[in-house]
Amino acid sequence: MSEPADVADAGIATLVPSRRDPRAAILDEIIPAGAPWLGIVCRGQTFRIVDLEGNQAVDTLFFNAGNSEERYSAPDTICSQGNLYLTTGTQLLSNEGNVMLTIVADTCGRHDTLGGACSAESNTVRYAIEKRNMHSCRDNFLLALTRAGVGMTKRDLPPNINFFMNVPVTPRGALTFADGISAAGRYVEMHAEMDVIVLISNCPQLNNPCNAYNPTPVRVMVWAVD
Ligand SMILES: [Zn+2]
Repeated sequence: MSEPADVADAGIATLVPSRRDPRAAILDEIIPAGAPWLGIVCRGQTFRIVDLEGNQAVDTLFFNAGNSEERYSAPDTICSQGNLYLTTGTQLLSNEGNVMLTIVADTCGRHDTLGGACSAESNTVRYAIEKRNMHSCRDNFLLALTRAGVGMTKRDLPPNINFFMNVPVTPRGALTFADGISAAGRYVEMHAEMDVIVLISNCPQLNNPCNAYNPTPVRVMVWAVD
């Protein structure tokens, strides 16, 4: 008897480009490979992340800028849309059930919110004890929060989004860190439905294919309210 067909890579969403002109962006910054970034996107503004060189995981969290107790919720987002992957049309929900942002354009087609962020602990358990001191997303998140002085700590880090990361669920229900489906210049764009703090770790991971074993820079852009 043959193995069941692996449908993990089926169902990549239809790609939806944006009409926005990069020259009109009011914020346009590069996040270097492996670096953290923190910024604020206001209600009505549009936020884009560009995978400049391809196959770069961008670990991301959102917090209500007026009340950081309200933050991105992976389980609420997944349950609400009845789909494990994020793409155009996905409403990113908070732990209070409010829509924080809506994905309005996506030229990658699939983003993960199950794989979590790499950390000293996961590097040690998954790879080797000598990987413990490697640069990780969790450390990046904490560094950015500390620099920003927003009063958040380890306990304020819920499960995150991994933009551009391909973590297919197999027919047997397992998670796999697979080669990326993104490529140079692909982007995801979101419309903010409330003022949000955006917390990013441009993943420095070297031990699995999430960054094609080669972390690279990404570009973040914001457009004013239409
Ligand atoms: Zn990472």
